[in-house]
Amino acid sequence: MNIAIIGGGIGGLASALALIQEGFKVTVYERSPQLVDLGAGITLAPNATRVLYHIGLGTQLEQTSVTPAKTEFLHYKNGEVIMQVTPKNYRELFGSPYMRLHRWDLQHAMLLRLAEIAPNTLQLNADIKGLESLSNHVDIHFTDGRVARADIVIAADGIRSSIRETLFNPAPPVFAGFVAWRGLVNTSDLPPHLHESVVAFGQGRHINRYLVRRGELLNFIAVAHRDHWEAEGWNIPAPMGEFLNEFSSFDADTREIISRPALGQVFKWGLFGRPWLEQWHSGRVVLLGDAAHPMLPFIGQGAANALEDAMILTRCLVAESDPQQAFTLYQDTRASRVRSATEQSAKRGDRYLGEPNKDSLKGDDAESRYGYNAVTDPLGR
Ligand SMILES: Cc1cc2nc3c(=O)[nH]c(=O)nc-3n(C[C@H](O)[C@H](O)[C@H](O)COP(=O)(O)OP(=O)(O)OC[C@H]3O[C@@H](n4cnc5c(N)ncnc54)[C@H](O)[C@@H]3O)c2cc1C
Repeated sequence: MNIAIIGGGIGGLASALALIQEGFKVTVYERSPQLVDLGAGITLAPNATRVLYHIGLGTQLEQTSVTPAKTEFLHYKNGEVIMQVTPKNYRELFGSPYMRLHRWDLQHAMLLRLAEIAPNTLQLNADIKGLESLSNHVDIHFTDGRVARADIVIAADGIRSSIRETLFNPAPPVFAGFVAWRGLVNTSDLPPHLHESVVAFGQGRHINRYLVRRGELLNFIAVAHRDHWEAEGWNIPAPMGEFLNEFSSFDADTREIISRPALGQVFKWGLFGRPWLEQWHSGRVVLLGDAAHPMLPFIGQGAANALEDAMILTRCLVAESDPQQAFTLYQDTRASRVRSATEQSAKRGDRYLGEPNKDSLKGDDAESRYGYNAVTDPLGR
């Protein structure tokens, strides 16, 4: 079967690796002229790393990932510890670790592996304009006038998926009421006591900071409540003065960290959601990752669910030779788990708006999420 994947993000590249490993012929079409370092960190829980190990990335990721010994939750104003979370040994418990990574280290590991097992799979500068799903194949139309053909198409074109809007539901993404800023700080610029994994909360804002890349960089994501947001994209440079002013009531350590981003640069973007979509496939086209089910970042499971999708869809295509049956099995396997993660992320965001205390910050049942095994758990509802 000849499979086209739209989008070379986390979901698209993971799908390509999983499908090629099972012997499928795959082409990934990515609209960017090149995949670049967006300067951000990512948390990957055991349910995500399990898939990454299965597709051959474990050794590479272990070279740079960081697993925190503990995470402290602080009161924004005085930096007092409200609670401390000590993660279990997930490698021992579930057979796969909890990892924090520079996003580029993850993406780079995926690209290296792809080049190793199937060079020329990734086509850059390939901006999809539209799809024509016919009875036996799909015609893929590019904005430069080219046309390609595939037996099936996996649309992993992210939260602003044009394929979702043209083939499934035209409703645009909806602003979720939060704006985020991100930055990376060289740990050599910080005293050792600021190298910890910490989240500071208060006044409808929070700042999550953690080590990535062998501990050489401290990643921070700062989130604030907002009523309106108009700009699009992930990479909007933000004026430092405006950013520091937004978080000027936070404790001195937090302010010190966020005032030292590498190259003096922070980026901001708005957090968006979409209404729940009941059906993720139409004819020979199927949605995956944020294109199917974007979720807020507050439980760190968006990319993890894209990775689970990639694994489950691959297994369904191995189990069912008819694409319709494979897509139905994929949807049946994924829907309730993804919906629950989407709802939990939204609820967690709401809880962060109030006064921070042990009750408001108490975690939910993360281990039931982390224990899920997309590589071996049964398919179907
Ligand atoms: C602040 C923040 C923090 C987060 N932190 C975490 C975390 O710690 N852990 C976690 O698990 N998740 C996290 N997430 C979520 C995670 O980043 C996403 O869920 C994940 O990147 C989705 O992957 P994807 O492949 O579906 O989409 P994307 O990674 O967005 O990839 C989509 C790709 O499609 C390409 N594309 C789009 N349109 C076209 C087209 N027409 N033609 C060709 N190519 C196209 C794009 O260029 C892009 O490369 C976070 C998200 C945010 C906003």
